[in-house]
This record gives sequence, C-alpha cells and structure tokens, in this order.
Amino acid sequence: MFPYFRKKYGNPSSIYKLANESDNAKEEAREKVAKLLNASSNEIVFTGCGTESDNYAVKGAAFANRKKGNHIITSSIEHHAVLNSCKWLEKRGVKVTYLGVDKYGVVNLDELRDAITDKTILISIMHANNEVGTIEPVKEIAEISRQNGLLFHTDAIQTVGKLPIDVNDLSVDLLSLSGHKFYGPKGVGALYIRKGTKIDSLLHGGQHERNRRAGTENVPGIVGLGKAAEIAAEEFGEEEIKVKKLRDRLENGLIENIENMIINGHQEKRLPGTLNICIKHIEGEGMLLHLNHHGIAASSGSACTSASLKVSHVLTAIGLSHETAHGSLRFSLGRDNTEKDIDKVIKVLPPIVEKLREMSPFGKR
Ligand SMILES: *Cc1c(COP(=O)(O)O)cnc(C)c1O
Repeated sequence: MFPYFRKKYGNPSSIYKLANESDNAKEEAREKVAKLLNASSNEIVFTGCGTESDNYAVKGAAFANRKKGNHIITSSIEHHAVLNSCKWLEKRGVKVTYLGVDKYGVVNLDELRDAITDKTILISIMHANNEVGTIEPVKEIAEISRQNGLLFHTDAIQTVGKLPIDVNDLSVDLLSLSGHKFYGPKGVGALYIRKGTKIDSLLHGGQHERNRRAGTENVPGIVGLGKAAEIAAEEFGEEEIKVKKLRDRLENGLIENIENMIINGHQEKRLPGTLNICIKHIEGEGMLLHLNHHGIAASSGSACTSASLKVSHVLTAIGLSHETAHGSLRFSLGRDNTEKDIDKVIKVLPPIVEKLREMSPFGKR
C-alpha cells in the first residue's frame, strides 16, 4: 500500500503515466478479489466499507426493482448495516419481513418460503453471523430465491477470506465483503454484483467503477484489499484448521474452569475463529475491563454496539433473556494467535468471573 500514498499518487482517472500506474494497481486488485470469489473482475465494485456494500445491495436492489415489487426478506440477526438499511426503506414504502432464527442462530427455510409473496424482490441473509459465528444455509436460500425469481444478497463480510466462497456454486446475485475483516485495511470494501443484476447506484457523480460508484477511488486501500484477497486465497484451509483448534482449546478450557457458562451459536456450523459465551450473573462490560488490564482484547455484543448498554439483538433473537445476554463475551481468534494467548485467557478469566460474581447483586446462584 505504501507506494500508493507517497510515490504513486496518481489519480486513476487521469491519463498521465502516474495515473496509469494507479489504475493498473486498482485493476490488479480487482482481479485478485474476483479470483478469491470465483467471480469475473467486472462483477466487483469497490466501496468505502462493508457497511456501504450492504447499503448499496439492499437499497440499490430495492430502488431498481420498485416496479416489480416492494417486499424484502431478511433475518432478525443481520448486521445493522443491513437491518438499518431495511428500516430506512420501510419508512419509504418498502415492506420488510425479518425472519426469526432457532436457538443456534440458524434461519428457518420453511419460514422463508412462507414469507415470499408476489411482491418480494430481494432476500438478504448473511453468510455467517458476526456475533455468534453461526453459518447460514446460504446455498439452500439461494436456490429458493432462484426458484422464485428473486434477487439474493448475502453479507459475507465474516466469511470472505475465512471460508471458501464460490459465487457461482453459492448462486448469489450480490455479496458484500470488507477489507479489515480479513487482514486488509479499514475503510475499503467491495460488492460482488452478478452480471445482469438490476441495481441502482447510491453515489452519483463521475464515471468511476463503470458508473456504479462515483468518486475517486481509495487506491492504497484497494491495493491492500487486493493483497489481502491474494493471501487469503493462498492460505485457505490450513489456517482455518489452526484457528479452529485454538478456538476449541479456549472453549474447552473455559468450560472446565467456569461454572454457569453457555456457548452461543452452532456447535459445528460456526466460524472457526469465533467464540461467543454468556457467563451468568455478571455483566460483559466488567469482564472486558478486567481482561483489558491483562492485555486481552475481547468484545461483548458487536464492536459497533459496545458503547451502548443495549443488549445484543442477536442474543435476544436466539432466545436468551436480557440478564443472560448482559453476561456475553466474544473472543475472535485469528492467524496470529498462539496457544500461549489461549492459555493466558484460560488462566486469567476464571478468577475475574469469581471476583465479579462475589460483588454481583445476583450473587453466586
Ligand atoms: C463488520 C461487518 C459489517 C460492517 O463492515 P464495515 O467495513 O465495518 O463497515 C457488516 N456486516 C458484518 C457481518 C460485519 O461483520
């Protein structure tokens, strides 16, 4: 990325040599992202973040297909980038069905089939949930979508670079990804748009991104995203096995040492690096502060809601009480984690839990 900040700063839309260098780097990155998804490069549009990709997919499809219908089906555990796009559309005459999920966080396909009407235009269901890690049956959803002549968008921001994704095998029309969720830079994302998909743009101006997304491109960010895609494609499989092994070690170690703890999400159909737990009778925030003292970075709920005291909509949707959901902790493991890191958490967390439970008004029930 560095040369594209300082030396190769040309605007890719200009015609001098410096500009061509930027433009070529951008197109090379597009090919790398396309390759990771088994898409063709003209089906990839770069965006400013995963949130923009989700907004683009949901609002863009809703606007472009207005004549056909005004009904969208999504799930109640989507990221707020999708949920709040839907809420915004609801204020503008679009009807939205929010499908419930089972206690593991999996959407019910019968409920999905029943929700489809002759006004439905789009199904938007995430590939894997960002809080509990549950992987949704997107292939089956895509098939239902296709049988009914609908568009299918999946927010794959949690799975791109972590699980193998082939847009043709999955048969999706729109797929969102974000750089910083797979070791790329922050502030850059992309939307896969299957050739022929009817979608309106959100940003209007110049002719960037084949008229799909106006605005001078974030060349260093795009170059970084491309590199992350290239590395992800090379390291598939092995990394996933290593990360899952560490996650399972953490899960087992915590189960052994902490009473009254539950594991959220699906036992098998789950992202390899995600561990979401609820520790009863105490609050996640307290644990996070203590963990932070020990240099351990964890979350409760999603990073985007951690500043508010609202209980996670995902944990509520899988049927947890507010009290239990308040005791949630999420550990996200990655390629740089080691067994030593895991063993540190297993050693540090149980005494924190004990201490907080002693102080808790709910006591050690
Ligand atoms: C992080 C995330 C987003 C938002 O992506 P940004 O690049 O942070 O805007 C959307 N959906 C899911 C599932 C995510 O994990």
